[in-house]
Amino acid sequence: MKTSNSTFGRVLCSLFGHNYVVSRKVTLHITEYQCTKCKCEMTTNELGRMDVLTPELKEINETLAKFYRRRQAILEHTLQSVA
Ligand SMILES: [Zn+2]
Repeated sequence: MKTSNSTFGRVLCSLFGHNYVVSRKVTLHITEYQCTKCKCEMTTNELGRMDVLTPELKEINETLAKFYRRRQAILEHTLQSVA
């Protein structure tokens, strides 16, 4: 039987805890994290709490990121025309 790295990681994580690093900045308040050991993914929600990054949440974050980028682009454009 093959033992994958992530299975080994999961065992380590259950013993020592996850080691999350930022994998993606979605908005100012929402950030996605991935554990470097077991590769599991987490996200912060608008309440600032950590949630398991499910495919549904991933989709929501994707939509939020799109809106956020558009808003940033409009803001930058407005600032440029004022200056
Ligand atoms: Zn982990």
